[in-house]
Amino acid sequence: MSADTAVVPPAAEAPAGVPARDVHYCEICTFPYEYCEYGSSLTKCKANLEAKNPELYAQLYSEAALTDKLKSLTTEQAESLERESAKRERKAQAKAEKERAQLAASKIVLSRIARTKRKVITCIHGLHLFSPPLPQLKVIAKGLSSQFATGASVTQSVQHPGVDEIHIQGDVVDEVKNLLLQRAKPFEQMPPESEGGVGEKNIVIDDKAAK
Ligand SMILES: [Zn+2]
Repeated sequence: MSADTAVVPPAAEAPAGVPARDVHYCEICTFPYEYCEYGSSLTKCKANLEAKNPELYAQLYSEAALTDKLKSLTTEQAESLERESAKRERKAQAKAEKERAQLAASKIVLSRIARTKRKVITCIHGLHLFSPPLPQLKVIAKGLSSQFATGASVTQSVQHPGVDEIHIQGDVVDEVKNLLLQRAKPFEQMPPESEGGVGEKNIVIDDKAAK
């Protein structure tokens, strides 16, 4: 766009040759609206802009605007631009899809571990799969400790080295399950199931180690 065609508000005294520009940023891809096509969500960006600012939408995506733009590109360049944009969009969609599927398959395993004949420990494994909406495991362990008035700590998993789990003194497997499902303290920040939070299907009680 040349300085002649740029829309300069009459009140703005822009230095000669430098049109005053009001850059608006897209809420979807965070680029300026003019650059949405370089993001990975052009379809969503366009729909958002059309709803929010029909004038700017018309300015950027009208037949005339698109024709103007195409004129400055060879057909080959234009087609490759379009292909790239569609490809980025498909990739981003596939990624989001995969993340949703992974979360749906995530499981929290609650198990009773018999330490001695009379001492049982409740193990919560898999909470890390539902972070980051949840606070740190340490904070949750502390909350569970005061909730049950017993000891709770964060420990590295024996079966899954490098992954932390929470160990609580005593058998509170059913109680922990209820707290999780009811989003009761210390799980009050767990999002609802519809937003990827844990649901009944994500909780497994592993009784193999019991008794
Ligand atoms: Zn955008």
